[in-house]
Parts: sequence; C-alpha cells; structure tokens
Amino acid sequence: MAIHITDDCINCGACEPECPNNAIYEGGAEWAMSDGTSSSDEDRHDPISDDFFYIVPSKCTECQGFHDEPQCAAVCPVDCCLPDPEHEESEDVLLARKDELHG
Ligand code: SF4
Repeated sequence: MAIHITDDCINCGACEPECPNNAIYEGGAEWAMSDGTSSSDEDRHDPISDDFFYIVPSKCTECQGFHDEPQCAAVCPVDCCLPDPEHEESEDVLLARKDELHG
C-alpha cells in the first residue's frame, strides 16, 4: 500500500528529504518519474496537491528494501503520512517497483 499525506499536513517539509525514491513533493510543485535532474517535458506532471506536500503513488514503495518502516511517517510531527486505502499493494509489487526505480 502506498503512503499518502492527509490534509492534516502542516507543510513542515520534514518528510521530503527522507524518501529514498524522491516520491514526495511540495504542494504546487510538478513531479517527475526521474530524480528531478531530467529536463524532459514528457517527464513533468501536474501537482497532485496544490496545498500540502504530496506523495506520488507510482513512486512510493513504503520504503521496502531500504528501511523497516515508511520514513516519511517516522519523521512526520503530526502523523499525517498514512497508508492509502486507494493504493493497496503487496510487498512483491512494492519491491518490484523499488527495482524499477533504482535499476
Ligand atoms: Fe517515500 Fe517511503 Fe514515504 Fe513512500 S513510505 S513516500 S517511499 S518515504
């Protein structure tokens, strides 16, 4: 299951640097599948939230293969990084995504 950020977010930004997949973006920022160094227009997507930090579901692996627990949830001071019921995924799927993202 991907993690999502609820509207309890206080926009502190603590989560963003903790994500091993660069899956977290500030509200209003465009996201990309790449690590952000690509300048290709094709790899730029509209923000998922304009108001709060957000997580791109197709980039979140629940930190599988890197950490024992989701790092965004571990550092969030208001506990607003929660499992997303709309993106329930098995460990196998999450680990395959990790391999895809990191080669
Ligand atoms: Fe990134 Fe891990 Fe949070 Fe998913 S659970 S957004 S991979 S820090």
